[in-house]
This record gives sequence, structure tokens and C-alpha cells, in this order.
Amino acid sequence: MKHSTKIVLTAERTLMSNYHGRLFLGFCACAPRGLWPDFVFFRVIAPPVETLSDGRAKVAPYGSRKIEAALLEYGFSEDDVAVVPPSKLKKFVGRSTKVVGVTTNDPLGLGPATSTFSGPGGLVNKQSYNAWQFEKLMERLRRMKRGAKIVVGGAGAWQLLKEEARRRLGIDVVVVGEGEKVVPPLFEKIVNGEDVPEVVYGEIVEAEEMPTIRGATVGGIVEVARGCGRGCKFCIPTLRKLRCRPLSRIVEEVEVNARYGVRGITLHAEDVLRYGAKGVRPNEKAVVRLFEEVLKVSGVEMVGPSHFALSSVACAPRLLEDISALLGVGTEERPWVSGQTGIETGSPRLMEKHMYGKALPFSPSEWPDVVEQAFGICSDNHWVPCATLIMGLPGEVEDDVLRTIELLDRIKKYKGLVVPLFFVALGALEGERSFTIYDMRDVHWELMLACWRYDIKWIKELAKEYLAKSPFYVRMPLMRFVNWLVNKVDKRIEEMVERKKEEVRRRILAKAVLRTS
Ligand code: SF4
Repeated sequence: MKHSTKIVLTAERTLMSNYHGRLFLGFCACAPRGLWPDFVFFRVIAPPVETLSDGRAKVAPYGSRKIEAALLEYGFSEDDVAVVPPSKLKKFVGRSTKVVGVTTNDPLGLGPATSTFSGPGGLVNKQSYNAWQFEKLMERLRRMKRGAKIVVGGAGAWQLLKEEARRRLGIDVVVVGEGEKVVPPLFEKIVNGEDVPEVVYGEIVEAEEMPTIRGATVGGIVEVARGCGRGCKFCIPTLRKLRCRPLSRIVEEVEVNARYGVRGITLHAEDVLRYGAKGVRPNEKAVVRLFEEVLKVSGVEMVGPSHFALSSVACAPRLLEDISALLGVGTEERPWVSGQTGIETGSPRLMEKHMYGKALPFSPSEWPDVVEQAFGICSDNHWVPCATLIMGLPGEVEDDVLRTIELLDRIKKYKGLVVPLFFVALGALEGERSFTIYDMRDVHWELMLACWRYDIKWIKELAKEYLAKSPFYVRMPLMRFVNWLVNKVDKRIEEMVERKKEEVRRRILAKAVLRTS
């Protein structure tokens, strides 16, 4: 039966997957299209989210759930609003639909991870899965929307500020920034047929005002704090003010997830270890209590952090030990817990210049020691940091990159993953030039290779530990596959780097010839 709902909330297909509860697999959406056959990507890596009997999404991106909750709190009814995956749009978008709200993280593939691996300035000049899927979704919505307005918001909405992009994709309104306060009145105006601006800026929402989600989320994500306050210059402005949500609200959202059968909860914040903190030092009691209370929720089996800061780890060394004890990590059942973090650079000079606050309460000159110490503490407590590095920060010189390579050498004995990313001109550095493959010098390739060597060492180890409790007949073929894949890439990586270097050299030369002719 066709429902045709007044407000339909959706997201492109790579966001509408639960990635088997392994959120890190979501990074595959940043890869260039064609890296895997489409059926492997959409069936094996990113199978679609399950749906409820009426066709609504069983789990959905946290951003869509927040907007859904804000609309319901504002006064729209449950019949007015539906969160649906792209495959069910036909059932919900129809004559009575006035607004289709789309959540996006990286609509044009301009985010740091995507622009490093895919697109015209990336390692492989092919469109990424996420940008491709966003384009496809927009194309479908243009065809089916009738009179409805397409409103796009979410973490990647900044990419749609250019009118040309909105026209090309058929977007009527873009909401940039936090949406809970501005989206409900905006949708009300659209529903009433009133005129609305093409670009709407969000407003800071205080922690107590953030609505409680009504449905389950991809990866069991539950936001515990919003913002950061460390003030790295390349980070988007919304990350500036840290607001920690009341514990009772967090627990309510965990309960909502558990009711829908979600067993693994990802506590989301830019630095989960600063939950309840007043300054940069962790409030250890508050963090431990957070984990304790979430673990108490019936049905919850696994809890982990989305992100944590290395400076927080280094200044509260006992905290990880306490959390690990609560989570029961370091066992065959749960060998480790992982989360994303940022090293960004091994150069104190660049730390001082662009991210002074990231090292606090330590100084930028102590940063390499802080990173090494934090990796050591993580290793002792079975935490696996998945860390990013940034290449091409404004003002970077060869010595800065060499210092990062040196730092990688210092931490190579500690388990983790390190991903080098290209600098994207965002936040206070918006006016600078983003880094591309054509800016790569020999030292950057060396850094990439150093990251790869670090990663292969630990990928095999992590896979072995991860599969340890699987039956022998599952473990053996999977381990063989992982080893085969890693060895295959390893054998070809230096050759690939040489080929890429040559491609870049030829392109730079061709451009220079064009300029002089
Ligand atoms: S520490 Fe991370 S989240 Fe905070 S401002 Fe810096 S980059 Fe952004």
C-alpha cells in the first residue's frame, strides 16, 4: 500500500547501511567506484538497512533520527514524518509529500577521506561511492518529487553552498549547521506553501534542548556530547563549543536502540573521554559513569567510543584501564575496542600554527611524546586507535613531513591503524588551497608508504584476534583471504606509488607546457 507521507526523511544508500555493525567499514564509501564490483559493495560491505513492516527504516543515520525527533517534538505527528531508505521512497513520496529531507555527510565527495582516495584531486580519479549515490538519489527525487521541496542537511551540507551545485542536483534548500532548532519551522513553512530561503544556517542547540531520538540508529550511535572547543583551524566551526548531554537522555537513546534489537552502542563525541569535563582534562568519574550506565541497559552487549583524543588519553592514563575493565576487553570474546583519533602531524611547528588546542593540557612541543605515550597506554589497555594524519597543511615544509614519518617509527610497536589524508580547506583555513595528488612530493609518498607498512603489520594481527572466537572452518579461510589480500597489495604498492608519481610528473609537465605555449 502506498502511504505518501507529508515529510519524508532519507539519505543516500551508503549512509543507509549498518555495515554489519562495524562502522569503520563505512569508510569504504569514500573509495573510488569500481574498487569492488557493485554487488560486492552493496551486498557484502554495505548491505541495505532492514525495514519495518510498513517500509520505514529499522535503523537510520543519527542525523535523520535527530531531525525526526525534532519534528515530532515540534508538533508534527508520526503519520506526518517517515524515515525511509532509498529503496522505499516510491512507497512514501507521493501527492501529499511536501518535503523530502536528505541527510548527507559528503554529497560531492569533498570531505578529507573521500578527496584523498577519489575524485579529480585524489589518488584515483574516479567518483566515490558516496558522491555517486548522492547524485543518484537526487536524480530519483527530482523525477518523483512532484511539488515537494528537497531540503538537504547534515555534516556535508557545506559542500552545497554553491548555487551551481544546488541547481545541478535539483536541491531547493540547504541547511548548514545544527538543524534541530531551524528545521521544524522551516518544514512547517514549506508544508504551508510559504516561501523559504535557499540557504538556512543552523543554530547552536544547548545539550538539554537536543531531542531524544525515537528510532534506532546506524551503528547504534548515540551522541553523548557535541562540539569540541580545542579549536583546530581546519575543523568546521560547529565543532567549537563543547556541550555534554545529560546522562538520562543518553540512556534513553540507548534504550530506544535496544528496543529495536541493536546490541552494540557507539557513544559519539569528538572526544568521548571529555564527557562531563569542564576544561581539557577528562572528568574521569563522569566518563566511567557514562559507560557504566549505558552497559546497564538491558539488551546492550557492546559499547565503544566513536572518537577520542590522544591528549586526553595521555593526561588520564588510568581512565582507559577503568573503561576496559568495565567493557571486558582484552579477552577472546572482545579482544579490543577501537575508536577514531587524530595525530595529524608529528611536527610541533605545525601543531603550534594550526592546532595549538589539540595538545592541551600539553604544549605543541610535547606533541610527539604525547602521541607516543597515548599509543602506549592504548596498547596496554587493548584500545586500537584508528588515527588520521593530514598532508599538505598550509605552510608545511619537508621537515614537517619527515617529523611525522619519525613519529610513525616511534609508535610502530603499538597496535593501531593510521590513515594519511589530504588537507581540505575548511573552517578558519577556508581561504587556503586544498591539497591534491598533484601537490605530492617524494616525502609525501614516503609518508604514505610508511603508513601502509604500519597498517599491514597490524591489519593481519587485528584480523587474527577478531576472528579468534570464530569456528575453525570460518577462521581459516577468512585469515587466508586477509593474508592473501594484504600480501598482494603489499607486493604491488611500491610499484603503484612509482606509477602514480610518474602520472603526477607527466601531468605537471603537460600543464607547464600548456601555460608556456
Ligand atoms: S581536536 Fe578534533 S574535533 Fe577538536 S577541533 Fe581539533 S580536529 Fe576538530
